[in-house]
Amino acid sequence: MEGCIFCKIVKGEIPSDKVYEDDQILVFRDIHPQAPVHYLVIPKKHITSISEVTDADLELVGHMINTAVRMAVAAGIADKGYRLVTNSGMEGGQVVDHMHWHILGGRQLSGELG
Ligand code: AMP
Repeated sequence: MEGCIFCKIVKGEIPSDKVYEDDQILVFRDIHPQAPVHYLVIPKKHITSISEVTDADLELVGHMINTAVRMAVAAGIADKGYRLVTNSGMEGGQVVDHMHWHILGGRQLSGELG
């Protein structure tokens, strides 16, 4: 989508620190990490938020979650535990309007995003 920062990352117009990529999704390191491991999982297709997901996207969302779990294992944070969260809308704390799942771990998390 025009002007969307994460669409620009998908297109390679803005650099990102990629951890995983396939034809449907991209995983990269958050530019302002809130934990020792802080990855973002995004669909290559522009979906504004989890609230905009349709039945046709359910397989894609499942693939994102499944990949997030695999990334947590690969990052070595799965045994002690981690958080997988997506913010939706202004009061949900969503700043970038392209659906993304945060993978946070590597320290004790508490509170809202920890
Ligand atoms: P949210 O508040 O859930 O919309 O989260 C947006 C996240 O995107 C924040 O944690 C930002 O640090 C992160 N972010 C914004 N721009 C970039 C970028 N160019 N590369 C990596 N992460 C980014």
